[in-house]
Amino acid sequence: MSETILNSLAQRYVDLTLCKTKYDPWDVYWYADKPFWRRESMNFSREYKIYPYVDLGEKKEGRTLKNILDESVHLQESLELYRKSAAEAELDRVNYLIDHTINLQTRTRVLLGETMSYDAMTEGCYSLRAPDCDYAVFDAMKQELDAALPGKGPVAERVMNFENRITIPRDRVPAVLTAATHVFHDCAVKNMDISSGNMPRLRFRDLGGEMEFLSILFGYEYDHIEMERNFALDYPFTVDKVVEMIGHEMEPGHLTYFELRLKTMIDTCFPEMQIIAQYSPSSAFCEGSARMAVYMCFDHSIEQLVDFEREVIFEQGRLDKSLAACMPLWHRFRDLAGYGKLEATRNRWNGVWDKEEAGAFLEKYLFAAPGSGAQTVDRLAADDGHFVSHDYARDVMRDYYKAMTKNTDEQWRLYQKLCRSHMSMRGIRDLTYRIDF
Ligand SMILES: [Zn+2]
Repeated sequence: MSETILNSLAQRYVDLTLCKTKYDPWDVYWYADKPFWRRESMNFSREYKIYPYVDLGEKKEGRTLKNILDESVHLQESLELYRKSAAEAELDRVNYLIDHTINLQTRTRVLLGETMSYDAMTEGCYSLRAPDCDYAVFDAMKQELDAALPGKGPVAERVMNFENRITIPRDRVPAVLTAATHVFHDCAVKNMDISSGNMPRLRFRDLGGEMEFLSILFGYEYDHIEMERNFALDYPFTVDKVVEMIGHEMEPGHLTYFELRLKTMIDTCFPEMQIIAQYSPSSAFCEGSARMAVYMCFDHSIEQLVDFEREVIFEQGRLDKSLAACMPLWHRFRDLAGYGKLEATRNRWNGVWDKEEAGAFLEKYLFAAPGSGAQTVDRLAADDGHFVSHDYARDVMRDYYKAMTKNTDEQWRLYQKLCRSHMSMRGIRDLTYRIDF
């Protein structure tokens, strides 16, 4: 079979996904259809996000959601037919395209208002299905926090108090984020095959209190991404949030993945490498592996991570360094909060809990401040699959690395290969996906 057939099927996946952004504006967060591109006009605003970075123009037009659904069903059938006579070396690519076409279909069904269980939705979108949760771990965490967090009074109050005390003061935000960016950038360059010239330009200003950052892409070519990142001065960045905003959101997390996907697209001319859609297995890989890459920077040692937080973030933020002793517990609490929010979203989606019940659950386990549970539930509903594609995906990646590698050096090599491959989240989850690294 000719590769051009598969290329034309892949192009249909890309076209349909772009078209869907008319009804799903936040779906596509990376798109590069050309080998190089540069912004030729200063006619843009730093006041709002634009996704994807390039204006799609007519690519969004011409199809209803029903058209997109019908065409994606047809596309899946074509891909399955192709698979019957595909060469061995093409199978990963065909499977990747099938999984991503299923994600396109599932997300379109959600947008059309079809009902399905939460697990069916995440299985369809991300090829992931989070296991049931044992609430005893939430109770145990609450007791640990009660015993360890400084101060007197109810534990919920002390959680909020601790959070305030590890929040970077506004005037220290630029120094903290800049210092952290350098540390994570150096780690990415040392361990990944990426250019050292890709650290984003950092800008700092008010963004309205709810938004952490806003990115503007100025251009790209084979091994260079020209990006400006505007961080909010008016957002309450806690110490752990700084780690997420820099290591996860930029290098060696998402920005590194974008760069490697771009190189792969140019090296192979595969249309599917142009695009990363949020509600897709690529996104679950992007999120889960970015979270793991943060731990890899510190050789999976919580002591090393906390040393960095104490010496760079607490230091530059002029925070009370004695609080760093609680950071190992705080990180475990934040990780568990992801699973708590997953439970709230899943039970709400499945109609098991109403908004108030989900909110009360979040408040009970300290995952929402007293009185703010129901409001938090509303916010979570804006991205229902978030905790599966982030928190659970991280743990899926961790288990995969454990099974496939002997040390962190090998994990960096495997991560790099996965970024450039037709990875299968399904195969990573059940440890059947194999790749030389
Ligand atoms: Zn992310």
